[in-house]
Amino acid sequence: MPSTPSTLTGRTLWIPRMSHSAARLFAAVFRGCGIDSRACEITTPRAMELGLLHTGGEECYPTQITLGDFLSVLETHSPETTAFMMPTAEGPCRFGQYSHYLRTRLEELGHHDIPILSPSSKDGYDAFGEASTTSPLTMVRMLWRGIVSGDILRKMLLKTRPYETEPGRADKAFEESLHRMEAALEAESRSPKQQLRAMVDTLEGCRDLFRAVPANYQKGKPLIGVVGEIFCRLNAFSNHDACRTIEAAGGECWLSDITEWVWYTNWGAERNLRRRGKRFSLRMFGTKLKHALQRRDEHALLAPFADDFAGYEEPHDIAREILEPAETYLPARGCIGEMVLSAGKAAYLHTKGADGIIDISPFGCMNGIITEAIYPDLSADHANMPIRNFYFDASSSTLERDLEIFMELARTYQGHKPFPRRYPASFS
Ligand code: SF4
Repeated sequence: MPSTPSTLTGRTLWIPRMSHSAARLFAAVFRGCGIDSRACEITTPRAMELGLLHTGGEECYPTQITLGDFLSVLETHSPETTAFMMPTAEGPCRFGQYSHYLRTRLEELGHHDIPILSPSSKDGYDAFGEASTTSPLTMVRMLWRGIVSGDILRKMLLKTRPYETEPGRADKAFEESLHRMEAALEAESRSPKQQLRAMVDTLEGCRDLFRAVPANYQKGKPLIGVVGEIFCRLNAFSNHDACRTIEAAGGECWLSDITEWVWYTNWGAERNLRRRGKRFSLRMFGTKLKHALQRRDEHALLAPFADDFAGYEEPHDIAREILEPAETYLPARGCIGEMVLSAGKAAYLHTKGADGIIDISPFGCMNGIITEAIYPDLSADHANMPIRNFYFDASSSTLERDLEIFMELARTYQGHKPFPRRYPASFS
């Protein structure tokens, strides 16, 4: 059953927890638009068991996790009050099959009427708005603001936690910030302009929570860019908490965020229209307008963090700063998906003074398999910056085994890297 406001009435829309912050803020946006919504719980051993039980072994790891999370919802909630969100995407990736797959599994279990909200990257996820009880455009815009805010808070966490002197304080600031942002996104009766103002005000308070974390900002920690498959790199359960593990090994992580994927799908939507001869069309106008509004919102939400993110700037022009550097290895006109972004981001982070790149992928995912094949050349062309793939599945990873050696390589490279790192003023 497709999702519309009426099919969601009386139901809770469960959001997969690809990213802890984005899932919670997405749910808050839906609630603010009159749809009861919650982020799936952090994956439990029981959920993983369900995911493995109801998959055949050919599906990738993110499917096992999200299916398990959804099925564990059904162990404690009635199907009549449940709906699920499972976005889809174009490209040579099994992800495009997963909303159909979820539907099949649910029907096999006798759940024929559970709605699945499934927007697609094909139209830049515009279908999110169709589920809204308010203006669809308002909803899409609020979801975007939720994504940007979630990325900002995660970035603040990752740049603060490695330097905290009281363990747990950065995590606490992060959780408190999420609560505050949820409240800001849920608040009703605000115009988009008022909502943006309230979000910026709330983010300023969140920024101050992070700034108040007792910390010793000493220069010299290896900065490790973390790229790779979007679910596995962002979902701490699936990657065995890779960022925390890297921090425990003495590093600081720069994790590729979700907005990067949205800029990429926007670029793809424009490219598709041009290829179909619709360069000068209403659709193209709408696509460009959406992009401009998204940039404007992002700019406003990022403004309070100008000092904090000095040296941590994300690419502004995805085509020039990510896809062009990837062109030699994986041309974007022929390759589709995260592998292109991973290659381009690795090259971008090289110029930002990164000391190494870790590419995270589910075991058997073609993104990792392909990037692993091109990284030796990419590394050789970028002053031999260390780049390493790590794979994960339900039972194992190579991270714990090989991280120590990788960090040694990163420290060695740090001594002769061609691009120095720029630090915020808080560093001594
Ligand atoms: S990118 Fe890889 S792991 Fe992720 S959904 Fe696609 S095939 Fe699966």
